[in-house]
Amino acid sequence: MGTEIKVYISVDMEGIAGVTLFEEIEAGKPGYEYFRQVMTRETNAAIEGALAAGATQVVVRDAHDSACNLLPEELHPEAMLIRNWSEGPFGMMECIDSSFAAAVFVGYHAKANTPHAILKHTMSFKIGDLRVNGLSLPEAGWNALIAGYFGVPVVFVSGDKAVCEQCKSFLEKCHTVAVKEAMGSASINLHPAKARDLIRAGVEKAVRERAQCSPFTLAGGYTVEIEFTKEEKAYRGQWYPGAERVDDRTLRFKSEDFLACLRFFEFVS
Ligand SMILES: [Zn+2]
Repeated sequence: MGTEIKVYISVDMEGIAGVTLFEEIEAGKPGYEYFRQVMTRETNAAIEGALAAGATQVVVRDAHDSACNLLPEELHPEAMLIRNWSEGPFGMMECIDSSFAAAVFVGYHAKANTPHAILKHTMSFKIGDLRVNGLSLPEAGWNALIAGYFGVPVVFVSGDKAVCEQCKSFLEKCHTVAVKEAMGSASINLHPAKARDLIRAGVEKAVRERAQCSPFTLAGGYTVEIEFTKEEKAYRGQWYPGAERVDDRTLRFKSEDFLACLRFFEFVS
């Protein structure tokens, strides 16, 4: 009988409260051990929110760098944790499928070249811009398309103010919590405890109101354009079957099937 409500939580690190410098999100560097704890606590706040909204199962995807940042022992005992990369095409959305009722993004960051954004980039520093059907997307947008492929709506995003604004532009009804804001290279932060309170409440509301959010899909097939930062990546990628070299640094790939686009991205990026 009982209805199963599965919630998927993808967690990056750049958009965690307080995080400002690259050395704070790189294993072995000063600040990392502290901020992986903050990341774990912020994830727990999202899990608590999902459970309060009636989630019967919560799956957490550690989605930053090594994908082994969250501290398993410190994580909420009700959540399952996905670590490391399978090298398959789902990346930061590993194990998402149509059985999930909602997806949540915690600790996300804005796309490459965004003004007033903390630790901005798109997937890696090899990509200057990623466009789907002409729409320039941050990682959150690409990951929302993966969730959308399985019919799962993204209901909540936290990170800096810039990523929240970017997500609102294509995920209209998505709830967002900005835990910080950039001013040039500086960051203005909420206290981590305050950020957790807002995330807990925000995820609870978002999961409860998930019916208002539609899965992110684009009509009429997909045209993916990857603008690399270096010409060599475009040269190599042009040999992928179906890939088209648009200019020195840009590749284009078209398909009706978003999974084919994912496969293209995985092999050329
Ligand atoms: Zn990251």
